[in-house]
Amino acid sequence: MMDKANRFDVLILGAGAAGVMCAIEAGTRGRRVALLERADRPGKKILISGGGRCNFTNIHCTAENFLSANPHFAKSALARYTPADFIALVEKHRIPYHEKTLGQLFCDGSAREILGMLEQECRAAGATIQSNVRVNHVARTDEFVVRTGDDEFRSPVLVVATGGLSIPKIGATPFGYDLARQFGIKIREPRPGLVPFVLNEKDRSAYCDLAGVSMEVDAACDGQQFREKMLITHRGLSGPAILQISSYWNSARRVKIDLAPEYDIVGELLAQKTARTAAGLRSRVRELLPNRFADRWVELHPPSAWTNFALEDWEKQMHGWAIAPAGTEGFEKAEVTVGGVDTDELSAKTMEARRVPGLFFIGEVVDVTGHLGGYNFQWAWASGRAAGEAL
Ligand SMILES: Cc1cc2nc3c(=O)[nH]c(=O)nc-3n(C[C@H](O)[C@H](O)[C@H](O)COP(=O)(O)OP(=O)(O)OC[C@H]3O[C@@H](n4cnc5c(N)ncnc54)[C@H](O)[C@@H]3O)c2cc1C
Repeated sequence: MMDKANRFDVLILGAGAAGVMCAIEAGTRGRRVALLERADRPGKKILISGGGRCNFTNIHCTAENFLSANPHFAKSALARYTPADFIALVEKHRIPYHEKTLGQLFCDGSAREILGMLEQECRAAGATIQSNVRVNHVARTDEFVVRTGDDEFRSPVLVVATGGLSIPKIGATPFGYDLARQFGIKIREPRPGLVPFVLNEKDRSAYCDLAGVSMEVDAACDGQQFREKMLITHRGLSGPAILQISSYWNSARRVKIDLAPEYDIVGELLAQKTARTAAGLRSRVRELLPNRFADRWVELHPPSAWTNFALEDWEKQMHGWAIAPAGTEGFEKAEVTVGGVDTDELSAKTMEARRVPGLFFIGEVVDVTGHLGGYNFQWAWASGRAAGEAL
């Protein structure tokens, strides 16, 4: 005989940002909710997010800040649970926060406060969180049956909130994708996003000894462009501009980097009547870029001649450094997973699978990926809430 304690109105797999938000909403609406979490505690990614301060939302959030095969899919959920709604929750719990830059809101103190707030809300909503749970098998009869090591859980509703593949060492698994496939639901090939590039061998030996040098650039790929900092690393490039553009990159594409956005390098040089020499050029470039990078750039890219035409041609290279990365640092270092459960398979209003009533997918496991800057959590909160309202 099935233990009644393991029968719930709603079972949620994964107690991360989206799962917990869904539990709060469904629990508050009177549903008996259990969250089953594989790791030894809920919300591990929240704890490491934003350098330990959790960039929990972005006040400028719009659907344009997300990648998805269907750019309209996220609109409904994002419109119904906005950054202001999450801020109201943060303020209700008196968690001090600040805007760091570009609308990004961070805790003044620690990400622990956000997780503590969510756990408290979960308890108030009567939802239970079980950690260290290994789900071995999910079946569907007239309800969902989830088998773990020694237990069996049953519910008419199963919400998959197991996240993406980034940072496997804190518990990321392909579970959500496997489960979707088990039910015949299409997946858009997952790949690392918001991830540093590894440069090809030639560029690596040319620049990577400058690891630690950073500068503001425009990074462009696939019709997208981001102006933020770029950082040279021991193996390639990172920094916000690179992380942002990495989500749009694939190995068939090049990334174009404008190293001196909006600067007229040669025009100034000619106007100042600076000597047309490598030293003159170097000192002009040093005005715009960190010295070590400026020197290296001029050393590796000498102008073909000192005519106006050749110098203008030289300048074009600085505004359009085309790199062909060897790859990325992969899921080990990626902040998110691009791709996931195909949005055509889901209701944009409720996140329920069209062909499997009662089965829901929320958060990062879905093919909706935010830009850097608090957007991924906003999607987790909004999609979790949208499902929670429908249960
Ligand atoms: C280093 C880092 C920093 C980040 N910083 C930010 C930031 O500041 N702002 C921002 O907006 N986004 C940030 N992100 C992205 C953000 O953390 C994620 O997009 C967000 O957590 C996704 O929420 P989720 O609930 O879908 O998945 P997750 O938060 O990843 O939660 C999924 C949960 O499911 C559990 N799970 C996995 N497999 C199973 C299974 N088989 N059974 C049961 N449970 C399972 C996991 O252990 C996890 O607890 C960051 C990501 C990383 C890696």
